Amino acid sequence: RSLSVPPMPWFGLDIGGTLTKLVYFEPTDHAEYMDTEDEVQRGKTIRHYLVHNKAYGETGIRDEHLQLDNVLINGRTGTLHFIRFPTERMIHFIQLVKSKGFAQMSSTVCATGGGAIKYAYEAEAELGMQLHKADELESLISGIEFIAENFADECYYYDNPLDSENCRKVIWRWSSARCSTTDSQYTNENRAESGLQYPYVVCNIGSGVSVLVVHGHNKFQRVSGSSIGGGFFQGMCSLLCNSNSFEDSIELATKGDNKNVDKLVGDIYGSSYESIGLPYDTVAASLGKISDPSDREHTRPEDLARSALVTVANNIGSIAFNVAKQHGIDRIAFVGNFLRVNPIAARHLAHAMNFWSKGTKKALFLVHEGYFGAVGCLDKLVD
Ligand code: ADP
Repeated sequence: RSLSVPPMPWFGLDIGGTLTKLVYFEPTDHAEYMDTEDEVQRGKTIRHYLVHNKAYGETGIRDEHLQLDNVLINGRTGTLHFIRFPTERMIHFIQLVKSKGFAQMSSTVCATGGGAIKYAYEAEAELGMQLHKADELESLISGIEFIAENFADECYYYDNPLDSENCRKVIWRWSSARCSTTDSQYTNENRAESGLQYPYVVCNIGSGVSVLVVHGHNKFQRVSGSSIGGGFFQGMCSLLCNSNSFEDSIELATKGDNKNVDKLVGDIYGSSYESIGLPYDTVAASLGKISDPSDREHTRPEDLARSALVTVANNIGSIAFNVAKQHGIDRIAFVGNFLRVNPIAARHLAHAMNFWSKGTKKALFLVHEGYFGAVGCLDKLVD
């Protein structure tokens, strides 16, 4: 067994502006590696708490559907578990880790995101351990590449994204190195054989937005960004619709119709704006139909939530498209938790890339949406 392998168990922690993402690597090859009884016992204690539960307290959630089995990291085989909780609960989380006695056990906690700096003192002082800190964008890219290279069904795109009858998800092969099982929610017959290659654009939509150009392994640049991202969407829904959670905002938006509050090209021209190539249903002015005070009375929260969602998605789409165009890149991978349970945003982004590039640029999506930073910082330590 290599001396470079850090002590088990391994945790990757991405402490973001809104959500903290925790990835736990559970080794499943103890026998092969002749782990000591002590190591096996520690694993069992953590497993008992983390893996047996799906919810922790009122806010921590394990995304069971994202669990990855048979993952090979630095020669060890195991299962990756994905857990998230609001970053505002970080101090509570540190206390929980302390009270459960996980701290002495988990000597290898890799941390990234702004919170890895902000909470370093509390975590290290309270738990008596050192966080292995990693850069968040480096972690993001290595997490994306690690998962996408190892799990063939990770990436997908939308065919006919805004056509409710004919829209379908199609798996996009990043790498043909390994084929895992197929998922019936996807269409398989139309799989692309060659995967996402360099260069590609990554658009990470978390609380805020970062757009990166990736030229090769460990070669990337943050070229653009926006503060109008997931945090803005939830803030708008909180103000406009009294929505208390992201899930409620998405539910409202799903029931709403932004055409009731947004001014479309068709509302201004009576038709499409043909010489410019703008269809009649393009949003010309977000919330442009409710400028009069009398409009407020009959404005539905559902329509406002939908408008906020479409506005954020279109705005990000425009930034990402311009980056791709400027750098002559055809593939844009959209990640981040704004895309969680949010196919409306993903389909708008897919449509925008398609429409503005006349079909030459493709929006790609990844199943593990917001967890790449946490995976990537884990991967980095054991590299
Ligand atoms: P960050 O690292 O900045 O926290 P994330 O990629 O975790 O970024 O995305 C945070 C965004 O994800 C939020 O601003 C919100 O729009 C969205 N989101 C999705 N699920 C949730 C949730 N359960 N709670 C809060 N925000 C959520």
